[in-house]
Amino acid sequence: MKRLTLLTFATVACAASMVLAGTIYQLTCPNDGCKYTGEASFFGGRMFALKTGWCTTCGEFTGIRWKRSEKPPEPAFTVWNSRTGQTHGLYPCPKCKKPFLPIERIEDLTHCPKCGKDGLKHKATVMYD
Ligand SMILES: [Zn+2]
Ligand SMILES: [Zn+2]
Repeated sequence: MKRLTLLTFATVACAASMVLAGTIYQLTCPNDGCKYTGEASFFGGRMFALKTGWCTTCGEFTGIRWKRSEKPPEPAFTVWNSRTGQTHGLYPCPKCKKPFLPIERIEDLTHCPKCGKDGLKHKATVMYD
């Protein structure tokens, strides 16, 4: 029984640190003819927050970060998604200034940004604070 309690505690501690820490994901597209691989950092760390998305103009992952002690930046645009009923904020890509849509949860990243097909695989490789 004691062992079980310890295990539960470890799981909780781990879940809590995952909220605070940023994560770098290794992304792989399994589709033949594409085979996209890339790396993207999500969610920021203890000191800073990060919004990451795919810039369709630059053809790469982009993101904006800010200190957690500061106010989050205002989105440049907001769009309403009729399919989900949600409003999404679009942020300017730091490189080309075109808007990108942040990925809120890694589970939402299911399609390959290069070929557009689903089945994109992600693996957490690095956790940082
Ligand atoms: Zn861009
Ligand atoms: Zn692909």
